[in-house]
Amino acid sequence: MTTTTTARAVIVTKPGDGSVLEVQDIEVTPPGAGEVQVEVAAAGVNFIDVYKRQGVYPTPTPFVLGEEGAGTVTALGDGVDGFSVGDHVAWAQAGGSEASVVNRRTDDLVPVPDGVDLETAAAAMLQGLTAHYLVTSTFPAKEGDIALVHAAAGGVGQLLVQLLTAKGVTVIATAGSEEKLEIARRRGAAHTIDYSSTQDLAAAVREAAGRGVDVVYDGVGKATFDASLGSLRPRGMLVLFGGASGQVPPFDLQRLNRAGSLFITRPTLAHYVQTRDELEWRAREVLGAIADGTLEVEIGGRYPFDEAAAAYDALEGRRTTGKVILVPTA
Ligand code: NDP
Repeated sequence: MTTTTTARAVIVTKPGDGSVLEVQDIEVTPPGAGEVQVEVAAAGVNFIDVYKRQGVYPTPTPFVLGEEGAGTVTALGDGVDGFSVGDHVAWAQAGGSEASVVNRRTDDLVPVPDGVDLETAAAAMLQGLTAHYLVTSTFPAKEGDIALVHAAAGGVGQLLVQLLTAKGVTVIATAGSEEKLEIARRRGAAHTIDYSSTQDLAAAVREAAGRGVDVVYDGVGKATFDASLGSLRPRGMLVLFGGASGQVPPFDLQRLNRAGSLFITRPTLAHYVQTRDELEWRAREVLGAIADGTLEVEIGGRYPFDEAAAAYDALEGRRTTGKVILVPTA
């Protein structure tokens, strides 16, 4: 393969809000050594894209947005082993994913098993790998534990609730509306709390749990941080994995002492897929659970690339449940 290919792509033209996104034709070179070319079936919409678009994670502009996707291998670069034209593949952490054709390093790819369609695979990768490492490695929750999960109707949230309840963990779920709480209950949450209308969230959690909880999985950040600390039992762990409401400002470490010798960690996916074996293990378990029906991924929004700005607007505006994906054409 020697010629370039034209692809449609979602481009960030300069740092800013959704209005800086443009959908343009770009030229894609043939795949380089160790790369394959992929016809993209769907790309996942994630908060990290928002942070990059805003310039919070500085990225030179213009750039193609998106970290995650799934599609079909159409061409192989030199030295590629273990992948063939026609394979279904997915990835979670490779920039420039919102294009109809992409070149991907094979190190970033995992195979999509039979029984998982490509849109679901794209929807499951980044949030699925995240939920997996949070419950198996960051705080390996076990039967009998009580966990608090914030934004439980969201992408990571719904997966967390399912993975935790499958382990015999009692889940207390929060969300911002009755409709979202109903989703959390369907996913297995034993108790639900609308944190948008609760005065003393920590007290409500403690009442539901009958004690302080063992772990809090908090991807909301600034708005929930104090209540998360206040919900924990002595020596409990706050897993602060995101800041959908804003980043938590610096705080006094003595608070951990006074509140009960608490633990706090701020994990990120890249550090939990450091080796090929670890990436393959987590992806196999997540995609395998989807294939056998034990893990469900809600695709709560599906937008063509041309409407990418609307997709991000919905995510940032708290109007989504489950996962939002982009597809090259409507
Ligand atoms: P979600 O689908 O959970 O969407 C975010 C949800 O957060 C909203 O739907 C909303 O739910 C809640 N929320 C509360 N306050 C706000 C606010 N001010 N603005 C926007 N949303 C708010 O998103 P994801 O599942 O994609 O991501 C969840 C979190 O996980 C994010 O912080 C993300 O950065 C983080 N993340 C971290 C990773 C890691 O490895 N550390 C990897 C992947 C994601 P409600 O209406 O119920 O309040």
